[in-house]
Formats: sequence, C-alpha cells, structure tokens
Amino acid sequence: MTTPSPAVNIPDLIRKKRDGGEHTRAELETLVLGYTRGEVPDYQISAWLMAVFLRGMTPQETADLTLVMAGSGDEMNLGDLPRTVDKHSTGGVGDKTSLILTPMLSALGLTVAKMSGRGLAHTGGTIDKLESIPGWTPELEEDRFLAQAREIGLSLVGQSKDLAPADGKLYALRDVTGTVDCLPLIASSIMSKKLASGAHTVVLDVKVGAGAFMRTLDDGRGLARAMVDIGTRAGRQVRAVLTDMDTPLGHMAGNSLEVLEALDTLRGEGPEDLTDLCVSLAAEALSAYGEDEQSARARAAQTLQDGSALAKFRAFVAAQGGDPTFVDDPAKFDVAPGRAEITAPAAGFVQSIDALGVGRAVLALGGGRERKGEAIDHGVGVEVLKKPGDAVQAGETVIRVYHRDGRGLDVARGLLEAGLSVGAQAPQAQPLILDRVN
Ligand code: URA
Repeated sequence: MTTPSPAVNIPDLIRKKRDGGEHTRAELETLVLGYTRGEVPDYQISAWLMAVFLRGMTPQETADLTLVMAGSGDEMNLGDLPRTVDKHSTGGVGDKTSLILTPMLSALGLTVAKMSGRGLAHTGGTIDKLESIPGWTPELEEDRFLAQAREIGLSLVGQSKDLAPADGKLYALRDVTGTVDCLPLIASSIMSKKLASGAHTVVLDVKVGAGAFMRTLDDGRGLARAMVDIGTRAGRQVRAVLTDMDTPLGHMAGNSLEVLEALDTLRGEGPEDLTDLCVSLAAEALSAYGEDEQSARARAAQTLQDGSALAKFRAFVAAQGGDPTFVDDPAKFDVAPGRAEITAPAAGFVQSIDALGVGRAVLALGGGRERKGEAIDHGVGVEVLKKPGDAVQAGETVIRVYHRDGRGLDVARGLLEAGLSVGAQAPQAQPLILDRVN
C-alpha cells in the first residue's frame, strides 16, 4: 500500500472522471485508500462513483481499482496449500451449488479455503444454509482455517471485515447513491475479495435472468469478461460460466430445504440441472489445472456416485462443529410443518416459474433478511415440483410452500401465483449453461 500524496486535489480527480478521463493507479489509491482511512469524505466519493457510473472505466483502470481494493486490508496467504480453488456465484435463487461443489473439489484433490456470504435480498447465502446444521460455525481462527484446509481440503468461513475493507465501505455507499449496478464497480467489488482471499484458481458462476443481478446475456457476458480480465492481469486463473437464473436451480429454495437437496445431490440422487452445473463447474476448475475436459467431467461426476464428495462434506461439517449425523439422516432437519400448494390454473405446460418471485416468497416466509443481522427461519421455503416444459393437469400441484404458522403465507402465495405461467404449447427448452468465458 503506497501513501498518496497529500497535494492531490480530490475535486480534480472527480472532474477528470466526469470528463471521461482515465485514472492512474496512483490516483485510484488516493481516492480509495483515502476514503477507507476516513480522509476523503462520503460526498466526494459519492460524486466520483456517479462519474464512474456514467463514464465507465477502461479494463486497465478496472484492474487497478480491484488491486487497490484487494490491498486495502489483510490478504490471505494460502501459501503452500496445494492446488487452491475458490468459487463465486453472483447470486441466485435455489443456488446451493457451493454446498455440493466444494466437497467435490476437495474429493478431486483440490483445496478449497474459502469465504462465503450470507443471503442478500432475495438470494440465499451459503453460510445461512450451513447453519441449518446444528453446531456448524463459520467462525474459525486463521490457523485452524488453514490447518483444516490442509487436512481435509475444505474449510469455509464467513466474510472478514479486514479483507478488502475498501470494498465494504464503497459497497455501502454505492447502495445509497444509485451506483450499485455498474459493471466495473461490480466486477472490482467481487474480484477484490477473490484476490484478497488468495486462491490460485477462481471459478465464477455468473447468473443471468429474472432472479439475477444481470438480466440479459450481454450484460452477463460483459461482467464475466471484466472479471476474467481482472484475474488474468493479477496472475490468477479465472474461468467464468454464465448460467440461467430465470428459473430457480433444482427444486428447493430455503435454507434447510436446500441443504437436503444438496445432500441428495452428493448421494448422486440430485436434480439433473443442479448435478450438471456442479459437474461443469468442477470440470472448469480441473481444466484450469491442465486436465482435459472430458476426463475432468468424468472424474467430477464420479465423486457424486462413489460417495467421496459426501464423505468430504461429512468431515467438513464435523470439523466446523456441526452434527455429522444430520448428513445421513434427513429427518433430523427442522423443516417447517405448515404446507400450502400452488396449483396449475389449467392443463398444459409450465411456461415459467419466476425465480425472483420464488426468492421473494422465501424472504416473506422468514427464510431471509429484510435488515442486516435479523434472525432467519431455516425451516421455511418453497419446493418447485414442476419446471418449465413439464406437462401439468388443471389443479395439479406445481409449487409447495413450507411455512411456519402461516407467517408471510399470503404474500408468498401472491408472489408464487403471479410468477407461474401455464400455456397450451411446450415452451422452447432453455439450456442451463448459456456461455463460458476464459
Ligand atoms: N456482489 C458483490 O460482492 N459486489 C457487488 O458490487 C455486487 C454483487
């Protein structure tokens, strides 16, 4: 971290970006590190963020901004851990991929020492899901975090405030200044945390569609390219896969329900879309380490058939204080006892199930947070029994709701009914994996 020159005039830097100029790395340090230390006020950085929002950034500027943010606090040294890999999803509904993929990767001989987040708005978070298992904790001292990664190839903790603190401050300011949905700011925000987390290889799952941040494939591709470019400039191997998030992934949305579906998948009995995505992402990681694609896919799929990924998950749960008997006994999970059904209004084919509506329904039932720090109900959620393209009879159950004492049920029902469409013709099949960017 270099010390910026006090002679630099912040309004000059704001004007430079306002007029479409390109910042140097030193200028970005002045702005971002000055802000992180509390020397540059919110109102100046707000104006600068809006200038970035309107004028954009070049690939070099975006990479420099990311490196400045990554270096603004602690940086994890994964040093001598073998074949490290990290994974990031830009956020979706029913996206329990990390629960399956990370033990698959460790069963394949890679090391996952990773930070994960909690749910954000209508999207779920890995830490919340894992806390459905009594005793499991995301809090590990650094020594233990690294020792566990060395021993079983998998450790997973919550976000540290000391890692890329500039991102934490900038993100909070973006949230209240209308500057969140800006490609270079999103790319640098995500990648600063990935670079500071230290893994050699990063696999990105960029979600596209109604339930995702990126609504169109073009926007998703732009974000994926920007993140891969940043990683490459920083000397990391980054692979991105663009995947559909118009429809929830798998069948379950909600914390305990998603862990149960992840366990089915780890036993080789998961839904096809979820299984296929996990195999594809694992194959991306292996191919970043030089393995050819066909053998990578076959080896990845094998970990779900031979129990090796499930064994890793069991060891990981136990190592972080969780009750490992939950892994083998689904009946132990707290699933909310209330049930309600959303049925097909007519015979035909399911056209769409709005992922955003499903995510918001889980939130309304109490499975996510309206405000930071709120307690959540791990047992509530939504089961999507029929997916787009499936034939249904009039009155047949399409979606099942798991609620607790009717809390939020009316809102959830409204959202789910509005998001379900049934038509006479089978819709055109949508691929789950839309594109790849290396
Ligand atoms: N996730 C992040 O970490 N940062 C963003 O800016 C958007 C999504």
